[in-house]
Amino acid sequence: MAEVKRRDEAPKPTKEPEVEKPSGGVSRRDFLIGSGAGVAGLVIGGVVGNRVIGQPAATGSAPVAPVAEAPAAGEASTYLAGYNLIFDAVQCTGCNNCVVACAEKYATYLHPEETANVMNMEFARIRTMRFQYIDVMNFCGYCTLFEWAEGSAEYPCAAVCPEDAIITVPEGEGVEGYYGMGYKWIDQEKCLGIDACWRCAEICEDQFASGISFDPVNRKAQVCSRCGGDPECVKACPEFGALKWVPAARNGRFHAFIPSDHAELLYRKIYNHVREL
Ligand code: SF4
Ligand code: SF4
Ligand code: SF4
Repeated sequence: MAEVKRRDEAPKPTKEPEVEKPSGGVSRRDFLIGSGAGVAGLVIGGVVGNRVIGQPAATGSAPVAPVAEAPAAGEASTYLAGYNLIFDAVQCTGCNNCVVACAEKYATYLHPEETANVMNMEFARIRTMRFQYIDVMNFCGYCTLFEWAEGSAEYPCAAVCPEDAIITVPEGEGVEGYYGMGYKWIDQEKCLGIDACWRCAEICEDQFASGISFDPVNRKAQVCSRCGGDPECVKACPEFGALKWVPAARNGRFHAFIPSDHAELLYRKIYNHVREL
């Protein structure tokens, strides 16, 4: 049986020194980092128990052999590979419980000292995206390029990253409950950050709606890691079905979530009108 470690004993990703921000007006980067949920609130930091599985990829070291502990006989794992997060705008009431849960979890994990008494919603990897009259939640849809068309089946953001900082952490590696099980994570030691790069956010914005945001402490990229197969946001959502954790492929097809499509669908339902944007 693998050793069970407390969260605060788990090795944490090393923080990089802050890159000095260039002077000047409000750039698109500044706008991006200042948007999203956009509000800072006071939240009491919670502690989530977890196991360290293998070597955390965020340290920048090469992946090591899996040492995951198999669930005991008859015990189903709560960490599920091959699933996807789906949002239903019709069920969502805009309460932002998911945003708070995500921000609290990752801020407490990555920056326990800086966030001991305050919480900033910029740590969330799920955010409110504002359209005209309609808000929908936005997060990385785990979209992929098409091999037959683009010559690669990578995530677009990973394909453009000059530092290979956007990694897929295989099952048996990562930190249980935070990242792993075949979902993404950003190696913040490798990431050049919003001041020097942000290519991942730009490509995502071009075709989706940025599923990439930036850590307000070290200004490095962050993305939904599906909590390593057990999403905290889904558990925090009080509305049945607004956020769903479902198998990624149904009948052989992958369903991506496009925020603007949901916003327009909701607008039509609420106002009984198709608008020209
Ligand atoms: S961050 Fe954006 S481009 Fe990258 S996989 Fe997620 S949705 Fe796709
Ligand atoms: S901001 Fe970081 S993760 Fe994004 S493309 Fe640049 S180096 Fe890669
Ligand atoms: S699955 Fe986890 S990392 Fe992704 S948005 Fe939900 S709480 Fe945040």
